Amino acid sequence: MTEHNIPFNKPYVTDDAAAYLQEAVNAGKISGNGMFTKKCHSILERITDCRKALLTTSCTDALEMSAILLNITPGDEVIMPSFTFVSTANAFLLRGAKIVFVDSRNDHPGMDEKAVESLITKKTKAIVAVHYAGVACDMGTLSRLADTYGLYLVEDAAQAIDSYYVEDGGDKRALGSIGNFGTLSFHETKNIQCGEGGALLVNRPEFEKRSEIIWEKGTNRAAFWRGEIDKYGWVDIGSSFLPSELVAAYLYAQLERVQEIQKRRVGVWNHYHQAFETLEGRGILKRPSIPAYATNNGHMYYLVCDSGEERSKLIEHLKKKGVHSVFHYQSLHGSKFFTPHHDGRKLSLSDMYSDCLLRLPLHLHLESQDTDRVVRAVEEYYL
Ligand SMILES: *Cc1c(COP(=O)(O)O)cnc(C)c1O
Repeated sequence: MTEHNIPFNKPYVTDDAAAYLQEAVNAGKISGNGMFTKKCHSILERITDCRKALLTTSCTDALEMSAILLNITPGDEVIMPSFTFVSTANAFLLRGAKIVFVDSRNDHPGMDEKAVESLITKKTKAIVAVHYAGVACDMGTLSRLADTYGLYLVEDAAQAIDSYYVEDGGDKRALGSIGNFGTLSFHETKNIQCGEGGALLVNRPEFEKRSEIIWEKGTNRAAFWRGEIDKYGWVDIGSSFLPSELVAAYLYAQLERVQEIQKRRVGVWNHYHQAFETLEGRGILKRPSIPAYATNNGHMYYLVCDSGEERSKLIEHLKKKGVHSVFHYQSLHGSKFFTPHHDGRKLSLSDMYSDCLLRLPLHLHLESQDTDRVVRAVEEYYL
């Protein structure tokens, strides 16, 4: 019997998606900020406990909105990890910021919080925390730094829906709801998806009003729709950041199922994690580690190989076995675009994860025999 190929990702389509799309079509108004957008906002506000959620057409948009809202201007410095997606940096570069990259942690690809303080200068305006693989950065440390130095804190929580930072006292705070702003992604590779989509989470009252204006192309149209003013006009800069009701309708069908989706993803993650205990125990490769102050949202299962060469061979081996595995970010400080702008500091852990980190298939179409097959294929390579 030939076995089917196991794709790295296969988006999950909820049963209600088609019916909600039809409902949006029937409503006769599919431009943004309609009924489904409002339903998504309230569900996101409930899940994350943020003050205000605004759907956007991507997490990239939400990051760009946060850079506008923070009045980033040329010369401002923004500290963020090098091991992240280009949008984290582009959003602030577009406003003229100088990006200062920080290395990854030894035990985790996320940013080394302890390395941040020495990078702060008089020009530093913001820190962007990226919750890699949905695992919280040490928000206690970052929040203290932001308070001490008067900096803004933005959370790129693209991968981090339904994941939490656990405070010293044991209270859990949703990722994206802690900094001045949080940004979520609903790209089809994320836990909750609508093809392309995102959200800005606004966590401080002083940004609520302006966030809506920037979202609506620099106009006060949202307030007009609510009947708070009798005509609307151009009051600020902005852009078209709202998705249509079709996108919101599809997304709402996913958000309604967030608990079920998360439970199943975490199930696959745990299956991998137990299965790879032996290989890690023998010192052959490293499994993800989740700090005590973080929770696991089952966004990503990755392994860390000993070298880039070993990773390439393993990817090839898995491919022959019908298993599609992929590597991830390449350090932004060493990219073609950024190298001339980098200050020359070595960020060797970010480079190590660029070379050695391997992501395994994780989606809701995986049956337990598929996960077993992936595990066996990895074991075959090593044992
Ligand atoms: C996916 C991702 C983004 C970009 O999300 P889009 O919705 O595709 O714009 C940004 N940052 C991180 C960390 C991501 O994983």
